[in-house]
Formats: sequence, structure tokens, C-alpha cells
Amino acid sequence: MPELPEAETIKEDLKDIIKSRRIEGLEVGLAKAIKNTSGKRFIQELKGDVFESLSRKGKYLIFSLRSGKSLVIHLGMTGRLIHSKRNEEISKYNKKFSRVVFTLSNKETLRFVDMRGFGGIYLIPQKGLERFPRLINLGPEPLGRNFTLQAFKDSLKRHKARIKTLLLNQQFLSGLGNIYALESLYQARISPLRSADSLSDKEIKRLHSAIQRVLIGAIASHGTSIDAYVDAKGRKGSYQYQLSVYRREGERCPHCGGRIKRIKQNNRSTYFCPQCQR
Ligand SMILES: [Zn+2]
Repeated sequence: MPELPEAETIKEDLKDIIKSRRIEGLEVGLAKAIKNTSGKRFIQELKGDVFESLSRKGKYLIFSLRSGKSLVIHLGMTGRLIHSKRNEEISKYNKKFSRVVFTLSNKETLRFVDMRGFGGIYLIPQKGLERFPRLINLGPEPLGRNFTLQAFKDSLKRHKARIKTLLLNQQFLSGLGNIYALESLYQARISPLRSADSLSDKEIKRLHSAIQRVLIGAIASHGTSIDAYVDAKGRKGSYQYQLSVYRREGERCPHCGGRIKRIKQNNRSTYFCPQCQR
């Protein structure tokens, strides 16, 4: 959390706003928010540069700068990117947990807010993006052209890991986290405990389309706001109202009326309906 739909929402919010904006000022409130250089160096390298475009890969946001450098941002557990107009009031929370603040040429600000501090910003030198391991090792985009049913089938057959664990593996498929992996498995009626290579062709087809359906629905709802997530204007998403199993332990399954169960897998909670998901 945040996952692909949340990063996508933020990208859509920001991509036009930041275009051609010069970085006039920079404040680094927490040095460890900058992952691969010092706060001082970060400021030196970026001051005066200009935002050209914003894209997304998996859960990562990629800002391209006029100099050819890039900023890659991972939102971790509680990361936010908040855009504020000149004189717009900043909430106490956003002020308190601001890790990096960019002041843009029109005095607007873009702040990286991260309460728990698992997110971070990478400064990538010119032409460094093609070599940046975190991006080049990512699996296919679930809403991209390469995520075909056949490719999905082939790669599932090569893995013995439990299907839920595999869906969270960013090298297998990029962008899914706990929420959307579990909702997709529920919609596909597949138990999170199944091993990937045990899925039938029919089940794989159901899962492939469930993943896409869930992500498209979540993007249309501007993401899921259960914890810290808000969009770039501080607004909550609404996909939390459509969740069937995630954080619904003990509640009724919308399909069969049975109870949603919670178990632990790799130290993370898994929610599912034992009746519907086999
Ligand atoms: Zn059920």
C-alpha cells in the first residue's frame, strides 16, 4: 500500500501540473528519504532543473527532468505526493511528515510526505534509468500489452510458490500489493494457498481477467484509502467501499454469505473466503 492504482492516480493528478515547472527551492527534512545520495548533493543536483514529464512503472513514479536526470519515487507504506498552490493551507499531518519539499517556479509546492518512512526518492543520473535495477527487474505491467493470457500461463507454470505470494513478487508481475492481489484471487475464486503451477487453464483465465478488472476498477475509484493514502490533492480514493475480502475478517462473503477468514502468509495478512476460493 500504495499499489499500482494509487501511483497511477497520483501520476494522472500531477503530470500536467508539474510539466515545465522549474525547481526553485528544495528542502530535505529527512536525509534517509533520499535513497542513493546525500541530502546536500540531492539539492545541489536538482536546484534549477525543470520537470519535463511524469510516468509510472509498477508502483514507482518516474519524474523526467530537462537535464536528463530522473527522480524515481517509491511511496512505501504511507508515502504521499502532495501538490499545493501558493498560499494553500497544508494540513498538520502533511507538514509534520514532509520529508522533501520542492518549491516550483510558480511558488507551488510538491511535497513527499511519508509518516512511516518506508518510501523514498532515488536520484538517477542522465541515461541511468535503463540501468536502474529496481526498474529493469520489474515484471510486466498488468494493464500493459505484454501481460497476455499466454504469457501469464507460461510464467505461472514455472512457479511452485503459493499464488498469493507470487502475485506480490514485483519481478513476476509489477504493481500488485496485498489489497489487489487478494481481491483478484477472490474474484477469480482461487485460494491464496494454491501453488502457482497447480492452476488450471480456466482458473488462470479467470485470474488474468480478475487482476485487470480489479485494477481498472480501483483506478476509476482513484485508489483505496484505508491507511494514509490520498491523491496529489489530498483527496481520498473510494475503492475501499468495493473491497470484498481485504480487512474484512469475520464479515460475510458477498457471494456465499460465509465468513471471511484471515491467515498469515510470509508475515502478511491474507483474507479470503474458504468456501468460494478453492
Ligand atoms: Zn464466499
